[in-house]
Amino acid sequence: MALIVQKYGGTSVGSPERIKNVAKRVAKARAEGHDVVVVVSAMSGETNRLVALAHEMQEFPDPRELDVVLATGEQVTIGLLAMALKDIGVPAKSYTGWQVAVQTDDAHTKARIDHIDGGKMRADLKEGRVVIVAGFQGVTAGGDISTLGRGGSDTSAVALAAALEADECQIYTDVDGVYTTDPRVVPLPALLLAGMSTISFEEMLELASLGSKVLQIRSVEFAGKYKVRLRVLSSLEDGGEGTLITFEEDENMEQAVVKGIAFDKNQARINVRGVSDKPGIAYQILGSVADANIEVDMIIQNVGAQGTTDFSFTVPRGDYKQTLDLMNGLKDSLGAAEVNGDDTVCKVSIVGVGMRSHSGVAAQMFRAMAEEGINIQMISTSEIKVSVLIDEKYMELATRVLHKTFGLEQA
Ligand code: ADP
Ligand code: ASP
Ligand code: MG
Repeated sequence: MALIVQKYGGTSVGSPERIKNVAKRVAKARAEGHDVVVVVSAMSGETNRLVALAHEMQEFPDPRELDVVLATGEQVTIGLLAMALKDIGVPAKSYTGWQVAVQTDDAHTKARIDHIDGGKMRADLKEGRVVIVAGFQGVTAGGDISTLGRGGSDTSAVALAAALEADECQIYTDVDGVYTTDPRVVPLPALLLAGMSTISFEEMLELASLGSKVLQIRSVEFAGKYKVRLRVLSSLEDGGEGTLITFEEDENMEQAVVKGIAFDKNQARINVRGVSDKPGIAYQILGSVADANIEVDMIIQNVGAQGTTDFSFTVPRGDYKQTLDLMNGLKDSLGAAEVNGDDTVCKVSIVGVGMRSHSGVAAQMFRAMAEEGINIQMISTSEIKVSVLIDEKYMELATRVLHKTFGLEQA
């Protein structure tokens, strides 16, 4: 007998029939003798609907109140799933984040989990109940409702698995595992063989942080920190083993140098041109962005010429206008000639631990972009990834071309 945490995403609970289907899956795991804790998302489209409603009230919704509204989506699905389970004779009990309690910091809309009290859940499991917990939400030290950022139910599930020392955390979604790239962009036939049965933790961490939304980045971080056995699999099809995220070095390291491709449209580029080339300039520019709690991603500072230099960096698209205003405000004190930017850019990245031991991978990527006439605006690299910033209209083309260039159809 094992303790399993199962998480079902929005599509998996998107209709009454699908919720009943989830109940059957949960009942099956229980019939096999396992203790089951289930984490659910809101029904698909619901969180977007709630966000839109909030924006009808305020252009920039008050974060505390936004969390009050957003957390309602998951409260509906936990109750419905508990009913569906009871209806087929399985004892179950639902809990919101604050009832558990999932304690978070007070960064509303992007809160981080500090601590989870496993007491109530353990008592229920002991009495033979399935425990159902609302994903994506928690409670601050002051007792306010908080949410964990979009896609946060993945993180709720992994954090619960860590707190309960579960044997496995299973993320059920609308695809049957982790693929070499988003199946919505590369046509499925090419991808049929590209679902991976295992992926290394490092690679999954990179893919998630570079935009693959199959797992929220924080859920992967949590799994790494607490060594949670984490698996992605389909709630819509039966029988598959899904993809296991592994912590051991893969013995088949000879395989593809590039393991996956991620893309991220949540990017905007800011350019500050003609600033004095002297110590402290990077700090003056980026320090003020950091003080405004805006996360900077890619950064380029050119080699100076005639005493001046150009500086470019990217920020999340939602922070574009604010960052541009901030830079325009600093323009005189920086002595900058010009401040401008572009919020129609995206980042496309190739990822693979095999890159450590192979040279020329970046050049191969750049050649593929050149052959398609795609201009590269910025580049950043690490040991196991190369990212390029390009015009967003080429995002899908770039992803498909790279998928082919690196032979991922045969992965
Ligand atoms: P859920 O509602 O279950 O949390 P999400 O929509 O958040 O589901 O995540 C699943 C989606 O992630 C898939 O439908 C797929 O389009 C997308 N995705 C992006 N990159 C990948 C990848 N490398 N492998 C599999 N799915 C991916
Ligand atoms: N319902 C939330 C969202 O849509 C959380 C999640 O689904 O993981 O972002
Ligand atoms: Mg998700």
